[in-house]
Amino acid sequence: MIADFAAALRTGDRRALARAVTLIESTRPDHREDAERLIAAILPYTGSATRLGITGPPGAGKSTFIERFGLDGLKRGRKIAVLAVDPASKRGGGAILGDKTRMAELARSPNAFIRPSPGGATMGGVARRTRETILLCEAAGFDTVIVETIGAGQSETTVAEMTDMFLLLLPPAAGDELQGLKRGIIELADLVLINKADGELLDSANRAAADYANALRLVPPAFHNWQVPVRAVSALTGTGVDAIWDDVMKFRAALEAGGDWSRRRAVQARAALWAEIGEGLMAQFRAAPSVAAHLAEIEREVISGALTPADGARELLSAFVDRD
Ligand code: GDP
Repeated sequence: MIADFAAALRTGDRRALARAVTLIESTRPDHREDAERLIAAILPYTGSATRLGITGPPGAGKSTFIERFGLDGLKRGRKIAVLAVDPASKRGGGAILGDKTRMAELARSPNAFIRPSPGGATMGGVARRTRETILLCEAAGFDTVIVETIGAGQSETTVAEMTDMFLLLLPPAAGDELQGLKRGIIELADLVLINKADGELLDSANRAAADYANALRLVPPAFHNWQVPVRAVSALTGTGVDAIWDDVMKFRAALEAGGDWSRRRAVQARAALWAEIGEGLMAQFRAAPSVAAHLAEIEREVISGALTPADGARELLSAFVDRD
């Protein structure tokens, strides 16, 4: 059954891919086992896509940009998957990409696959599912996987840790006018896009682009042969968007030349291993009867100040280690 599933996936059939993603999103233990076998079966056919992360504050134009960029990519013969990592699920709905009308034109192409955020789970759970979905997309022949997130919470670091190139899309405003954009996020960026460089916003977009280019000169480069470009684009009119594909290809070529492409992947694989270990341990810890027996009481004592968090943790960890 898994072999058939893997074979269907490899033909590039979008329905098979959608079913496979649903399987890896399932929390049922028997589904999880199948999902892991499926991932193992397709692993040899993964890894070749360019994995792009994209973030930016709500309203910056991410979905407009991704659709335009995606359509340009299709014209270049690319096969494009778009995934979302959305912490909004925790805030009760409002998932990005949840609205089916977004990226409608891109979604119609058989060479595009758009999948909204699974939502519901912890960031760690969403991260694992997204990592696995990237692999499924690659096995299905998608050569570009775009992972979208909003620039809030932990999600952009998570996405940067599972993609090859991280794009920051900003509205045409100076850095200090940007509400809620986390400091440090600019340091994750391999490419900065100032969107809405059209009409009345053209001048402010160009000014913002110059400001960011200046600011970036103070940031030590992550790769010696890649100076992070800042581009003013218009997702609405398409100006400058197709040329971003050239930046993506130049970036990949530069990193491959210096060995950084595979190095970055290796660092990510190790981080993912440790994330899985952490998640797995936490799940076992919470499920262990020896821990559950004392958890509520120790929590109460720590909250009331009768016990220090360190002592409470030590007690629970010994109960966990000495279980059964
Ligand atoms: P997201 O929240 O980052 O995904 O942003 P959307 O793609 O939904 O865009 C937010 C709003 O900005 C929408 O009303 C878009 O039509 C508008 N928008 C997006 N890109 C551009 C652009 O390049 N120029 C202009 N003028 N408006 C844009």
